[in-house]
Amino acid sequence: MKKGLNLVILLIAAFIFSQKLINSESLFSEKIAFSDKVQKIFSFIEKNREKIIKEWILLTEIPAPSGYERERAKYMEKKFNEIGLENVYIDKFGNVIGIWKGNPKGKNIIFSAHMDTVFQGVWKIKVKRDGNVLKAPGIGDDTASCINLLWTLRALKYINFKPFHNYYFLATVGEEIGFKGMRQFLDNSNEKFDYIIALDGDLGKLHYGALGFGGGKIVFRGSGAHTMQSRGIPNPNLAVAKAIDRIYRIEVPSNPPEKWTIYNVGRINGGKVNNAVPQESFFTIDLRSANQEELEKVQRKIEEICLEVARETGCKVEINLNRKEKAHQLPGARNSLLVKTAEDILNFLEIKDIKINPLGSTEANTGIERGIPSINLGRTYCRYKHSLREEADIDGLFLAIKQIILMILSLEQEKY
Ligand SMILES: [Zn+2]
Repeated sequence: MKKGLNLVILLIAAFIFSQKLINSESLFSEKIAFSDKVQKIFSFIEKNREKIIKEWILLTEIPAPSGYERERAKYMEKKFNEIGLENVYIDKFGNVIGIWKGNPKGKNIIFSAHMDTVFQGVWKIKVKRDGNVLKAPGIGDDTASCINLLWTLRALKYINFKPFHNYYFLATVGEEIGFKGMRQFLDNSNEKFDYIIALDGDLGKLHYGALGFGGGKIVFRGSGAHTMQSRGIPNPNLAVAKAIDRIYRIEVPSNPPEKWTIYNVGRINGGKVNNAVPQESFFTIDLRSANQEELEKVQRKIEEICLEVARETGCKVEINLNRKEKAHQLPGARNSLLVKTAEDILNFLEIKDIKINPLGSTEANTGIERGIPSINLGRTYCRYKHSLREEADIDGLFLAIKQIILMILSLEQEKY
């Protein structure tokens, strides 16, 4: 009887504990948002509106394609120092790091914005202002986040903020070439980090999982022949056609979001002339999934299909699929403290078009793959990202800064 009772108590305790894990409460409250210090910060941000825009333009006009972030890094380092962060330095990979120390018992929290852009070879950048919109390559991705970071820090200094947690502010290199700078920083750091918040992506888009990339290129080869001599000769074009047709019969889940998977054949190419069997044909496949098992399942099927088609057609096949950029999900992430807090802040700020999903492709991925709860927070609203006519909204930037400030002040509630 007593044993049975103990078991019941244990089960109830386990249930309560699991509920606590699943339904973590948000750290955000309207009390924080309407506090005097937040009101003071918000008016500081508004008062400095033109200064913020001016610095945003200035930083955007310092070109920083991946691998060439040095000038921007120097700027960020100088500003981190002027703001008064401790231990400001540029590491051997080119990342700029500034630390704002709190209590030794506080958590170690990273906020990162990437300095690099995708615009290789673009050395002259001139920002155009058009009402509420700024136009220039890199204006949004991710220069806007670098500005958000600087002005978050200035605003917090302005109210004499004394953090409980230890904050690591990073302006990183090589994000656009596989989160390179962030990975190098994490791999070489002796610190244990509790949260990573990547400042990247459109405002209102929040990702708590790491999307995996498993696509690649498949090449079929044969001896080739003039049409007149082509009877019985393996045709790589036929192999490509058969393979694509069969691949498109692979069923992939669109639900739940943690298993969401998609693929697309983006390019096919083969042959040089009308009157010959080509020696080589290829297609590319873009394969993405929130779930590594699903990703690998599709990869195995693609391989089976291509080998089968090679056998049938007599072609040789070379299969190159991405095995490096794996999908990662942390159990319970959707309802975790971090995500719930960020969600509440986005709602409070009445950000339009909020989308929360596990399909992230920002530096938060590097945290998630190391088991560190990580999310991204958007920078403003952008259009034509990664193109020379990139545009970013000015008003959105101010909302984004407020979002980051509320995030930090909310995280400060998690004391123990
Ligand atoms: Zn980016």
